[in-house]
Amino acid sequence: MLVLNGTGIGHHIGIGKAIVLNHGRRDIPKYHVEPNQVETEVERFRSALDRTRDELQRIQKGIPENSPKETNAFLEVHILMLQDPAITEQPVRAIQKYRYNAEWALKTETEKLVKLFENIEDPYLRSKKNDVHQVVERIFDELVVTNDSSPLSSDKNLDEHMVIALDLTPSEVVALHNRGVNGFITSLGGPISHTAILARSIGIPAVVGLHNAVNYIQHGDLIAIDGHTGTIIVNPDEPLLNEFQQRQIYQSNREKQLKSLRKQPAITIDGQNINLFANIELPDDINTLESVGIQAVGLYRTEFLFMNRTQAPNESEQYFAYRDVIANVEGPVTIRTLDLGADKQVDGGRIDGASTINPALGLRAIRLCLNEPALFRPQLRAILRASAHGQTRIMIPMLSSLSELEQAIEIVNEVKHELGKEEIAFNDNIPIGGMIEVPAAAISADLFAEKLDFLSIGTNDLIQYTLAIDRIDDEVNYLYDPLHPSVLRLIKNVIEAGKTAGIPVSMCGEMAGDPEYTRLLLGLGLLEFSMEPKRLLEVKEIVRNSNLEKLFGKTQEILSCNTSSQLRSLVDRINQD
Ligand code: PEP
Ligand code: MG
Repeated sequence: MLVLNGTGIGHHIGIGKAIVLNHGRRDIPKYHVEPNQVETEVERFRSALDRTRDELQRIQKGIPENSPKETNAFLEVHILMLQDPAITEQPVRAIQKYRYNAEWALKTETEKLVKLFENIEDPYLRSKKNDVHQVVERIFDELVVTNDSSPLSSDKNLDEHMVIALDLTPSEVVALHNRGVNGFITSLGGPISHTAILARSIGIPAVVGLHNAVNYIQHGDLIAIDGHTGTIIVNPDEPLLNEFQQRQIYQSNREKQLKSLRKQPAITIDGQNINLFANIELPDDINTLESVGIQAVGLYRTEFLFMNRTQAPNESEQYFAYRDVIANVEGPVTIRTLDLGADKQVDGGRIDGASTINPALGLRAIRLCLNEPALFRPQLRAILRASAHGQTRIMIPMLSSLSELEQAIEIVNEVKHELGKEEIAFNDNIPIGGMIEVPAAAISADLFAEKLDFLSIGTNDLIQYTLAIDRIDDEVNYLYDPLHPSVLRLIKNVIEAGKTAGIPVSMCGEMAGDPEYTRLLLGLGLLEFSMEPKRLLEVKEIVRNSNLEKLFGKTQEILSCNTSSQLRSLVDRINQD
């Protein structure tokens, strides 16, 4: 038995058998084959080599006569490498000697070979290690086709399993969820990454930021995780396994008990109504709204519609997706325009290194949309058309300057004009709001409030950008602090700007769904919260047990705290009152 600790995600207990993936540029499963399967595994490896060679020869034959000589020479090198015993025979020995699966045998032997190249003095020969990588990648491609143990590349049901990986992208989490996985553990990542947010929202227990997870855990180990504390037990003994199972039962009972609040209003003891909205990622998420008695969406992250596919959804596909959500939700549905970029990429996020140096500060969200109207306009048309079917709001992410907002509004107006000319129905008065998640926008919230119908505070990014902490970098996660006085001052500034302009201010970052902060935020004057539906009843319970006037009385005390630790003590006191 081994006890490990990472960062908990999802507040749930998960138990399952480990499937260890090893991400390099791809997922490389690592396991031992049964003794009587060794020869089959060797055969699988050899036939992958044959297919790789056939494929390269096929490509070589297809090279046009007038192509530069180097094209052919480059393929020649790759075909020759496929005859090198370091690539053809060494992995076979590793399969036979250690009973490694073919992918793992190839990986370990390739690493040795690459090291040899790295030690060569001659820079030209040294650069040949890239050819090794390229050839090996091709063999991996062929191996994946014949390996049904890779959960990300097969249709295998994973309902008894826990996936262990270096990292997972949001789209991979969706793929794992569709296969019923019981949980996952990653070496990298933090609690506010989109991977973590998605895991929480769809209810997969997880632990992230467990350094070297793939080295501590073996394929087939029994794993129990606590998504709240981040504790991981590898091969728990009987009493501990029992305890985890009991806690699973307790959690499901607590969820049942909270269900009694489903139909109760979110009203404070002194009679103030608080708006509680849902964050959704996938159209299917609306099925969870009914179970928590909520009928409004404060954040629909539309980028998830664009993931796990090679082409963006066209206008009509988007229209049907938005319309289905709007038609099935009674209250307003706040559709956020595309926030692709950074850790949310169309290709699932596993882009090659050389793409963007600092993606969180790069062409993301509204910047990307203004830069690529071919992406933005069909989405706006789809949202506007869907707005004819029920209450809809447009929300623009990552605004940092008024000029971006003005450009976005101008495009919305142009699209409206187009639809009008085509006599297509839409709501001409559709409210347009903005996410306040860049410090520049939070500081000048009054300017944005004048031009918008509502504001929504995105604390996930606001904290990242205010404190200069990459939200997906586990190395600096310990600095990610919602209770930093600067963060609270910015939040207060946005709330006040909304009040002065007479428009609603919501919060849709993870902070809004953390019951720990509900009273603090009420004390700062926040009256609208949007969160993953799974946290909603817990937050509602706190709202119903809080006295707003009394919390307002704490505003100055909150704002005069100089440090996070002072704030932490104050929050503890407020929560115990
Ligand atoms: C946020 O930044 O707080 C937010 C809600 O948006 P996302 O997490 O999708 O960036
Ligand atoms: Mg954001």
